[in-house]
Amino acid sequence: MGQRPWTGACLCGACSYAAEGVPLASLICHCRDCQRASGAAGLPVVVMPRQGFAAQGPIRTFTSLGGSGSPTQRNFCTTCGSLLFGLPSHAPGIVTLYAGTLDEPLRFAPTFAQFTSERHALAGHGLALIAHEKRAQ
Ligand SMILES: [Zn+2]
Ligand SMILES: [Zn+2]
Repeated sequence: MGQRPWTGACLCGACSYAAEGVPLASLICHCRDCQRASGAAGLPVVVMPRQGFAAQGPIRTFTSLGGSGSPTQRNFCTTCGSLLFGLPSHAPGIVTLYAGTLDEPLRFAPTFAQFTSERHALAGHGLALIAHEKRAQ
């Protein structure tokens, strides 16, 4: 019985991807590389099997040494700059989908956070923030 694929797209819609299978992990990465690459305090990640993954559109890559100490290739849209997915060289069998780009964000259910030693104070859990359902006034 096939699960429906995990699909996503960039901000402008020129790039999209689809990953088949079941997530191997769902997490939030707070490493400094993910912070700088995304501009966010933490990067939500769905780890999927590389087999059955496909992406299309004007995608550009940037490779840097990841938190693991081995090269990680980050893939982003050349038009709008959205960071879409990563291909870590130390684990060639996986692709890391950056969950902010998922077509169905509610499918993302993280079970752990990593590199919390590098986490911004603002990303900590338990902050008593006033929540606005829409844009804050
Ligand atoms: Zn785009
Ligand atoms: Zn990271």
